[in-house]
Amino acid sequence: MTLSPETEVLFDSHRGHQYNSANPPLYDSSTFHQRILGGATKYDYARSGNPNRQLLEEKLARLEGGTHAFAFASGIAAITAVFLSLKSGDHVILPDDVYGGTFRLTRQILNRFNIHFTIVDTTDIKNIQRAIRPEARLLYLETPSNPKFKITNIRLATELAHRHHIDVAVDNTFMTPLGQSPLQLGADIVIHSATKFLSGHSDLIAGAVIVNRNDLAEQLYLLQNGTGTALSAQDSWTLAKHLKTLPVRYNQSVANAHKVVQFLEQHPAVSEVYYPGNSDLHLSQARHGGAVLGFRLQDETRAQAFVDALTLPLVSVSLGGVETILSHPATMSHAAIPQEIREARQITWGLFRLSVGLEDPTELIADLNHALKEGCDD
Ligand SMILES: *Cc1c(COP(=O)(O)O)cnc(C)c1O
Repeated sequence: MTLSPETEVLFDSHRGHQYNSANPPLYDSSTFHQRILGGATKYDYARSGNPNRQLLEEKLARLEGGTHAFAFASGIAAITAVFLSLKSGDHVILPDDVYGGTFRLTRQILNRFNIHFTIVDTTDIKNIQRAIRPEARLLYLETPSNPKFKITNIRLATELAHRHHIDVAVDNTFMTPLGQSPLQLGADIVIHSATKFLSGHSDLIAGAVIVNRNDLAEQLYLLQNGTGTALSAQDSWTLAKHLKTLPVRYNQSVANAHKVVQFLEQHPAVSEVYYPGNSDLHLSQARHGGAVLGFRLQDETRAQAFVDALTLPLVSVSLGGVETILSHPATMSHAAIPQEIREARQITWGLFRLSVGLEDPTELIADLNHALKEGCDD
């Protein structure tokens, strides 16, 4: 019987591990015995490959509908590998609200290697069209973006890019493989910060790249092994275990997020709510709106009073944990952006991002309601 990807991530006991244990053993070894000199062994050195990382990568490839997956020591290491498949002189098109760490990587590190980046608002395909140079090799997308949750049409952008022989990479961290499948929409490369929903327990840093082309897979393996940025056996083992509950965790978070969105949209202390589920374009390429949303307080000066009055959410960077995580873009993810640019992009003091977790939504909403009262009444 063929299992769905969601069910397949649950199964380990049928994979022929010794003793048929419910979970695979952790192969905590940097090196492997090679008694036949020059003979072929499946594994020789753990940077180049180890059973725990391979098992994880097989699960990630199945989940995302790709042929090959590569696990990295962080989301940024995964993104770096994708960019390092380029060469000096190549041109890349990036979205204007790309993840801050990706912006830093391109602006402060990769620009030293004569790789050129053009930053555009990718939500308008005409902007992408205008940015394409003869040396363009990669269109990099993030949809939904954050903290404003702007949506780019993956199908249209990919058709345009492919007409110019440009590969398309999509950072799919916010939607997970369950919410959106960029490879099926035509994209060539899918990237995840597995630190977020894929791991889900706020206990490790990891990243992944998934592709369905052999030439890209060969490049990515060369980069993963050759630059030594692969995920450790220990973290691969933990992440593979956390993946088993991804479907239940994520689906519950999405259901809870819908309730929180409905609540915030009618609350007088909230002036705006940003949620991908409110976009027809997003829903034409994704299965639902996901579990992360943005909102702005009517009285932006009350942001600290609002936070002070909250009990449940973890107030921090990151997202996708079992616990609800409230982030303050102006002082956290987007703090490095100069204030004028931040304000022009409406990343103001009263803007919050909420990654909805697994708490009882009634309790979470009661907590938010209480804090919003504190945050608006004098
Ligand atoms: C967190 C994040 C990253 C970076 O991942 P790390 O695991 O922190 O290196 C990249 N893209 C998005 C959208 C993220 O949220």
